[in-house]
Amino acid sequence: MLVLGGTRLSRQLATTLREQGIAVISSLAGRVADPLLPPGEVRIGGFGGVPGLIEWLRSHPVDAVVDATHPFAAQMSSHAHQACSVLDVPLLGLRVPSWPPGPGRAWVGSLDEAATRVAARTFLTIGSLGLPAFAARPEWFLIRSVDRPPVLPARHELVLDRGPFTVDGELRLLREHRIELLVTKDSGGPDAKLHAAAELGIPVLLIARPVLPDMPVATTVADAVRWLL
Ligand code: NAP
Repeated sequence: MLVLGGTRLSRQLATTLREQGIAVISSLAGRVADPLLPPGEVRIGGFGGVPGLIEWLRSHPVDAVVDATHPFAAQMSSHAHQACSVLDVPLLGLRVPSWPPGPGRAWVGSLDEAATRVAARTFLTIGSLGLPAFAARPEWFLIRSVDRPPVLPARHELVLDRGPFTVDGELRLLREHRIELLVTKDSGGPDAKLHAAAELGIPVLLIARPVLPDMPVATTVADAVRWLL
């Protein structure tokens, strides 16, 4: 199996497949300086677009591909879909469901739209590459990311950290920085920050997921393994 990764689910899938004696190669983009690695064989770096991925699939004995990339990694999903269609290789998406609607939650279509709706003190957890959309804003931001972002708004405090986070920890952070709005991507999965925001009555702006190519999708590792078997 080729598992296109970079997510918690992709690491869990690689672990489970190995336990079942299925050979798996996990692929990472190489965006993070010190990535969390899945067990087993790992390759790091882009394939070189659709032609590169086709070439890679032709030269490796792969029976199926699991697109377990982050729901916002739309380009990789599109490339996987195109390459697997050309070669007739089975492709499964593995991604956690979107977060459900709740009090104080609103969805916007893009980071640019979110940037027009920020509060005086906004907590941004959108990944470092999304920050240019907020770079020209005069408001103050608390920014959390895994690596140091290349571009930052003028008034900010930066927290370099990666999950998992606890509700207690998130409550402390939101209170300490007197946060008025949380802006985050609708990644789904563990939702300590959303619980904490709800408890404090802080509104949340969620960036809606991009439209992804049509493919069968599993939402749990168990479902993905059943499909693969
Ligand atoms: P993207 O925009 O969809 O992909 C851009 C290019 O990066 C792809 O065309 C591909 O290069 C390469 N790439 C992406 N994922 C890859 C993978 N798993 N293995 C090998 N190459 C990959 O992706 P992105 O949004 O920059 O995300 C990059 C990675 O970070 C993904 O693997 C994703 O799972 C992870 N991630 C993303 C987010 C997010 O919010 N976007 C959050 C957490 C984790 P080539 O065209 O050269 O093959």
